[in-house]
Amino acid sequence: MWDHEADVVIVGYGGAGASAALTAIDAGAKVLVLEKNPEGGGNTKYSGGSMREYLDVEKASDYIESLCDGTTERDVIETFVREASLNTEWMKGMGAEIAPRGLPKRFPISAPVAYPTTRGAEGIGSRLRIKGATESGGIDLWGVLARKAAEKKVNVLCSTPAKQLLIEKDLGVSGVVATNGDKDIRVRARRAVILTCGGFEYDQKMHLNYLGQSYFGLCNPGNTGDGIRLAAEIGADLWHMSGTASSLGFKFPEFPFAIRQFISSPGFIYVDQLGKRYMDEPGTDSHLLWAPTSYIDTKTLQRTRIPSYVILDEDTRLKGPVAETGRGKVSDVYQWSADNSAEIRKGWIKASDTIAGLAAQINVRPDVLQQTVAHYNMQCVGGYDPEFGRAPDTLVPIGRPPYYALELWPCLFNTQGGPKRNARAQVLDVRGNPIKRLYSAGELGSLWHRNYPGAGNVSEALAYGRIAGRNAAAELPLPQ
Ligand SMILES: Cc1cc2nc3c(=O)[nH]c(=O)nc-3n(C[C@H](O)[C@H](O)[C@H](O)COP(=O)(O)OP(=O)(O)OC[C@H]3O[C@@H](n4cnc5c(N)ncnc54)[C@H](O)[C@@H]3O)c2cc1C
Repeated sequence: MWDHEADVVIVGYGGAGASAALTAIDAGAKVLVLEKNPEGGGNTKYSGGSMREYLDVEKASDYIESLCDGTTERDVIETFVREASLNTEWMKGMGAEIAPRGLPKRFPISAPVAYPTTRGAEGIGSRLRIKGATESGGIDLWGVLARKAAEKKVNVLCSTPAKQLLIEKDLGVSGVVATNGDKDIRVRARRAVILTCGGFEYDQKMHLNYLGQSYFGLCNPGNTGDGIRLAAEIGADLWHMSGTASSLGFKFPEFPFAIRQFISSPGFIYVDQLGKRYMDEPGTDSHLLWAPTSYIDTKTLQRTRIPSYVILDEDTRLKGPVAETGRGKVSDVYQWSADNSAEIRKGWIKASDTIAGLAAQINVRPDVLQQTVAHYNMQCVGGYDPEFGRAPDTLVPIGRPPYYALELWPCLFNTQGGPKRNARAQVLDVRGNPIKRLYSAGELGSLWHRNYPGAGNVSEALAYGRIAGRNAAAELPLPQ
């Protein structure tokens, strides 16, 4: 009747899944992990691998509570801050050295503390990552977790997506149905199931329903919202379904995922489809870019900022790549050229000796784009941008031709929504009661909501992964 059996069955082998598996094994449980992709790593492997240092539990919790607009219970936040503060020691115990992360001077910015005027911001410390990590960072972090998991002989079934949770009356979740090859398998969970199968970055219908607009993914294509359907089917409450960490990027037909825009010089502007600027381009935190692009013209119902266009000149082009291909899904298949010349040749970057010529290539009115660039350049001379508040040192003019443009789309690092959990990592039903023997961790039903400050999702995946692993392993086994 059962194809496999374990004390704790974990669905999804990214950072949260690995953290839960390692902790449950340390607590003496027999663990089986089911992973949809041919190999583990998920978004965690494609990430920057940044974690957050918290300096003071009370203040850091105030900060997170404010950013979450009161949607996340205080005990969930405080438990997170306390447990995340142990991430460094935990990683050290696996042989990894953790160090503060120097932020690259690239734009849009990722500030050390994203919202310094928010209540409790003084409790927020540096971003941390594995010392000497590559540009990706996530690969190094995943390497540490995966090596430890191999050493502890964590049993992982890859290419085995979970498709249904099984429940036994009065006892709770008792197993999982998954697909392996062309057949369904039944996996019994003697103590509990932990869902760590990521968000819905690659389900565009869910984007339209829950996020209000469509996005492209920068991340792991296996994250298609499965955990939300699995949990909703057995009555889980959902939270943070409109929350994302999202940036802006490029989408080319050659790839089914997006490439993040990240420029070495602040000498660029964004314009909408009418050829007008609409934000502080380099100075808006790079995780919150869904907000300025979500504008709808209320007369025409057009989304005039999706797509937008980034405009730059020859000096900015020569300062370095305008895209980031060292992390994200793209890092598997493409490296952007140092001076952007390969991408000009491919036609990905439009070029013209005049602003009017560039406007014609992106279907924007030439007179409006000329006026926008001229007005912006005047503000650079004065060092003052009254409309959007760009910092004076980022007011670098669009000067020397040729001029360049790329189409810009909202892109997801990750979504935050999913089944709601409590401070013990138990999944809750719509009345706020734990669904027996069901736990979750990571970006699936994250504690973060819309105002995401960076370096929080990896911290949470590791911290709530351990909490889920510990508590799942401590459940009493189901009767035989
Ligand atoms: C380019 C980029 C940079 C980022 N940088 C950072 C950063 O520096 N700091 C930070 O905090 N966050 C960062 N993030 C976000 C962060 O990587 C993720 O939110 C976090 O790693 C999520 O971990 P997870 O374990 O919850 O999910 P994942 O690591 O995505 O793991 C989920 C796994 O579940 C699998 N899965 C899905 N469905 C099923 C199913 N039905 N059955 C079985 N398995 C399934 C998936 O294939 C995947 O392997 C970044 C994201 C990206 C894309």
